[in-house]
Amino acid sequence: MSHSQAEGLISVKDVVFELSIFAQEYGVSEKQFELGTGRKYPWEQGVPRTKRYALCPVCNNPVRLVGLYKSVKPKPYGAHVARNVPGLPAHNDHRYANCPRYVGITPINENARYDEPEPHQLELCQVLRDNIHKIIYVAESTLDIRGTVNFWRKCIEKFVGSKGYLYPRISIDNLPWLFLYFGANQADLYRQNVKLNSDMHRAIVSNCSNAKFEISSESAQYGALVRGDGYLDNISLRFTGYEVVSRENTAYEKMTIYVDFRDREIYKAQLDVVPSLLRRMLRSRWDDNKRNKALQDVATEVMAKLGL
Ligand SMILES: [Zn+2]
Repeated sequence: MSHSQAEGLISVKDVVFELSIFAQEYGVSEKQFELGTGRKYPWEQGVPRTKRYALCPVCNNPVRLVGLYKSVKPKPYGAHVARNVPGLPAHNDHRYANCPRYVGITPINENARYDEPEPHQLELCQVLRDNIHKIIYVAESTLDIRGTVNFWRKCIEKFVGSKGYLYPRISIDNLPWLFLYFGANQADLYRQNVKLNSDMHRAIVSNCSNAKFEISSESAQYGALVRGDGYLDNISLRFTGYEVVSRENTAYEKMTIYVDFRDREIYKAQLDVVPSLLRRMLRSRWDDNKRNKALQDVATEVMAKLGL
């Protein structure tokens, strides 16, 4: 096996130079490398052939940067290094094999779970507890719904109850999406606010004759799904097919969402994980005034069961 085959390519967009879930991400370029490292050891090392390194923002394994000071086609890139590099955090094989930014990743069953949480999984649970308003903001924007406190309480409980946090591929990139995948699967949409004229809203209107949407005074853009005349069966969410796919040497994460009514799919859409989005939000204070006390209390209470 050649050197390049042994090292998996990652999406070239970003790397970090610090071992922290909140680390600033940098692009793979000469300028960004100098900005992030000052060209200091251990990021730049080796004689006679100088090598340059960074860390993967998702699995924190060493990443070799290729093509920074000599041009490579089509552009400089970062590749996971499957071994220890002097001065950098030790290579972690588990996290490497499960890094969704690693193009060579092999599919695993969605029921796969570690027996015990790895340190980064507990750290993600802490992120969920302390920043539940940001996670839910991403989840709600992704779904075009606004859930009640009770809706999100059930999701947090189900996420922990189904041991979603022990899924080997959970990461700071996909946390809001896998939170939905494991927590909101089969969630009932009754009484939840759905964005009016969204595809999901239109699908419910045209398929469920007894469904009605009550527009609240808080937001004219959303309507609460309620019963019209007569009985209304469950209208619920379902998530399947989470996977990592690669295109042009970059890995992408996606999944499928369905809305079911009377055991029938009435709506289907692909959801794509937006890499780095949550990390950028965690680094910003833009919505710290939007913290919801009730949701924070729920998250704190549920995570306490994990000893956090
Ligand atoms: Zn990685």
